[in-house]
Amino acid sequence: MIKTPRILDGIAIATQIKSEVAAEVQALATRGIEPGLAVVLVGEVPASQIYVRSKVKACGELGIFSELIKPLESVTTSEMLALVADLNDRDDIDGILIQLPLPKHVDTKRLLEAVAPDKDVDGFHPVNVGRLQSGQPALAPCTPAGIIEILRRSQLPVAGQNAVVVGRSDIVGKPAAMMLLNSSATVTICHSKTANLAAFTQAADILVAAIGRPGFVTPTMVKPGAILIDVGINRITDADEVERFFPGDADRRATFAKRGSVVVGDIDPAAFAHAGAYTPVPGGVGALTIAMLMQNTVTAAKLRRGISTEKK
Ligand code: NDP
Repeated sequence: MIKTPRILDGIAIATQIKSEVAAEVQALATRGIEPGLAVVLVGEVPASQIYVRSKVKACGELGIFSELIKPLESVTTSEMLALVADLNDRDDIDGILIQLPLPKHVDTKRLLEAVAPDKDVDGFHPVNVGRLQSGQPALAPCTPAGIIEILRRSQLPVAGQNAVVVGRSDIVGKPAAMMLLNSSATVTICHSKTANLAAFTQAADILVAAIGRPGFVTPTMVKPGAILIDVGINRITDADEVERFFPGDADRRATFAKRGSVVVGDIDPAAFAHAGAYTPVPGGVGALTIAMLMQNTVTAAKLRRGISTEKK
């Protein structure tokens, strides 16, 4: 008998996490503590402006203080370093988020390393990368942390499972693999030089696709019954492609007519029919990223003051 795949609802899980974070914020307020997040947005990249707006809005909803700092596009690396040093010193700021990408003339690596590790709510600082690797409590990158929350809160088995991560970026692929390993999965990381990729993906009980290519993972690359975690967010602007990925889908067609594009993940939606469970795009992994940022900000506020971050 073919079982209907389970949809892992990222929006519902994100709502749950945000309400838990709001409760943590309230508990901190009784001790006179208000977590604070500084969001640094350089220039006028439209996608970055949208992300930043959502992050600031989420802070407001959960009772987290936020400050949006908008240096001009022409800002220099040394001016940015001075800004970060100032934020590192400020007691009302627990988290510092530098929205990427930065203009080419700014030394991104140097800047991310200048953020105090205890305020690094994106989890990109080498100290936090190392803490994650050695299994210490860390501020972990938000998108991979969201993947783990989806699996955990959906009570899906991870320990002992074959997990295959396609993609090895510092932001998604590598930390996702490390977190799956910390959860005792047997982990394989694949990338653009992997030979015979399908042989790996076909063996995956948990398949994480973080590639950045629309519908790259096809149905034949997936093991029947696997858990499919689709991190990809790809905008397609070609009507034929929309029909290829979403045949006969009236809602998608309407979205396309209205906006001129629709979003598809790195997994061909046709593959979801073979899955045991899957994260939809949109409404899957992407929905968790801001919730995890809020969680990291509160965790940073607690860690900085020596307050336990253990969940009851
Ligand atoms: P990167 O471009 O940094 O990394 C892509 C990875 O995919 C690389 O490791 C690359 O391999 C690998 N890859 C590319 N082509 C192939 C191929 N043909 N076969 C196998 N592997 C391949 O992307 P990110 O990790 O930043 O993002 C991945 C996706 O996730 C994107 O769609 C992005 O939009 C989305 N994303 C979503 C987020 C969210 O949900 N909030 C947050 C961040 C990203 P190699 O290293 O060899 O080049």
